Amino acid sequence: MSESDINPDQAFTFLRNAVRAMIPSNAGSPVPNPNRANLLAQSPRASHPRCRVCAWPGHQSNNVHKASACRDAIITTIGFWEDVLANVQVSYKGHLPFQMAIQENKVTVNMIYSDAPKAIESGGMEAVIVNRLAMNYLKFQRLWASLGPKVSYIMEGDRDVIRYENITQALNDYLLAKNSYEQIVMKAEPNTR
Ligand SMILES: [Zn+2]
Repeated sequence: MSESDINPDQAFTFLRNAVRAMIPSNAGSPVPNPNRANLLAQSPRASHPRCRVCAWPGHQSNNVHKASACRDAIITTIGFWEDVLANVQVSYKGHLPFQMAIQENKVTVNMIYSDAPKAIESGGMEAVIVNRLAMNYLKFQRLWASLGPKVSYIMEGDRDVIRYENITQALNDYLLAKNSYEQIVMKAEPNTR
């Protein structure tokens, strides 16, 4: 999906559906493209433990040297965020309330650690969508950060990592008010880290 293929209505619908999939009662709903899906849309259920290597849900690898299932999960998630980025770019240009919601979005460190977002104080549906996307994006960034040196074993070379870096730079600007995940963590009180 590239930016030029999408019109603003489609873009906003994509983002709205992406956020809808994060509502617990929508767990297990079919996803439009299983190869580019938000595997972190939902909190994992206790009966489905996270992978002990990468901490993504939905699979289990035994060790970092046999981690193709980890790479598949992470690449699937990166594909989802690539699609989010394309749709955010179109919505930002073509849908003024969305652009305002991005500009007014407040990112707090609590968003990293909370799975239960508080009600948004002001703004319409656009503000809710930007807030929920940002929270879920932080979840993705937190898991990526926790991979640490394992990234070089799990991912297949620079190309994978460049895909991650490309979405990260752009989505930090749009969803995290130009902060990186690390910058937001640095702002946290030490006892909440
Ligand atoms: Zn894994």
